[in-house]
Amino acid sequence: MRYVIIGNGPAGINAAEAIRKVDKKNQIIIFSDEPYPAYSRVLLPYFIGQKVSKEKLFIRGQEFYEKNDIALYLGTKVLKVNSIQNELFLSNTRRLNYDKLLIATGGLPKIPFIEGIDGNEVVTLRKLEDGEKILSLAQKKKRVVFIGGGLISLKLAEALHSLGLDISIIVSSNWILSRMLDETGAQIVQKHLFSQGLRILTNQNVQRILTEANLESKERKISGIIIEGGKRISCDFVFIGKGVLPNTDLVQGDEIKIEGGIPVDEYMRTNVNNVFAAGDVAETFDKVSKKSIVSAIWPMACEQGKIAGYNMAGIRKSYRGSIRMNAVELFGLPIVSIGLSGGKRYKELINIVPEEKKYRKIVVEKDRVKGAIFIGNIRASGIIAGLINSQKKLIDVDRLNFLSDHLCYGDLIRRGV
Ligand SMILES: Cc1cc2nc3c(=O)[nH]c(=O)nc-3n(C[C@H](O)[C@H](O)[C@H](O)COP(=O)(O)OP(=O)(O)OC[C@H]3O[C@@H](n4cnc5c(N)ncnc54)[C@H](O)[C@@H]3O)c2cc1C
Repeated sequence: MRYVIIGNGPAGINAAEAIRKVDKKNQIIIFSDEPYPAYSRVLLPYFIGQKVSKEKLFIRGQEFYEKNDIALYLGTKVLKVNSIQNELFLSNTRRLNYDKLLIATGGLPKIPFIEGIDGNEVVTLRKLEDGEKILSLAQKKKRVVFIGGGLISLKLAEALHSLGLDISIIVSSNWILSRMLDETGAQIVQKHLFSQGLRILTNQNVQRILTEANLESKERKISGIIIEGGKRISCDFVFIGKGVLPNTDLVQGDEIKIEGGIPVDEYMRTNVNNVFAAGDVAETFDKVSKKSIVSAIWPMACEQGKIAGYNMAGIRKSYRGSIRMNAVELFGLPIVSIGLSGGKRYKELINIVPEEKKYRKIVVEKDRVKGAIFIGNIRASGIIAGLINSQKKLIDVDRLNFLSDHLCYGDLIRRGV
């Protein structure tokens, strides 16, 4: 029996660990197309901002693979999966057969079509090598334009700002963090970022990235961007932060089904019996919206990987579904967003103190909590996250003081939780 795991991120590692817990003898192989041992992508903005050293990024050393008898092949890309023949095509021209396969290939940055986007000074942030490139640009350049205002963009913007760079963020939606916050919450964050010296333009599309001849090399260098209406913003490099797409390239054309990501059942199994998927590449059930989603966050990748590993090794464990959840601190302002951020069919309980940069919103549908936003004061966000995660029916929901900082488990237990 041979287990093969494609991907050495949190999903892949947790799967390997779970398999080894219950199967001490069969072969486990992990492939990664990156040259490094496993590291935390979450820390990359802090590495760029020089708050975390390169050594501190690594989450598993060689001894982990040795102790668990896992064969790790770094710098080896799986080009294609043939799930009919149970065979993989590798970048070193070899082929390899598997008995059980886990696809844990993560995501790839979305790249919009913009003239000039293929230039060398246009960067994204997914891998450590991207982080090293951004750091090297930041040490030489002064001005950067961000295309996209999501979580990764803003974390990176803070890091580059701390290195002294001039930051402009261009967002096509009406507000920043549009997948995490409602307009009111985003306005508070936006004002906070303005006050730190960041320039943010919303409702704007970048039409062109401008380049000019470079006296130091043959490659042209970036000189600015043009937004709709022809306005020019000067810059020395461009960051693309338009979100992430599941990395499904290696299963294109195979029997393994692809939708938004690779859909899996509660055992993290794809439509092909001996093939599993987990992490940012997998599409799982969202407990709140009851739809299929790619959750794309670290803790879900760990949990999904673990469940996939147990099931691959023959131990039945089910995954109870994902919830959308993000927590971040930007220039000292803590922000938590869980589940849905609102909508006409929901009751919205709101407490806002803009001058203190405080905002709390709880989204309720009948007797269940469907989502929440916390800005400034995130106390009680853990309790609310628990309610959203469990989707438990609450008794007498109107009498629960969701907006109080003193909301406690005792109140919830009395109301049926
Ligand atoms: C800058 C940044 C900041 C983030 N911040 C947060 C945060 O604050 N909180 C949070 O919860 N999440 C955050 N995330 C998201 C989090 O990192 C991901 O959800 C998590 O890494 C997903 O784990 P994964 O195992 O599915 O994929 P990944 O960690 O992406 O790992 C994929 C693995 O697959 C390998 N691979 C891919 N294709 C192939 C192939 N064809 N052949 C061989 N190997 C292949 C890669 O080399 C890699 O080892 C952040 C991500 C980034 C990039």
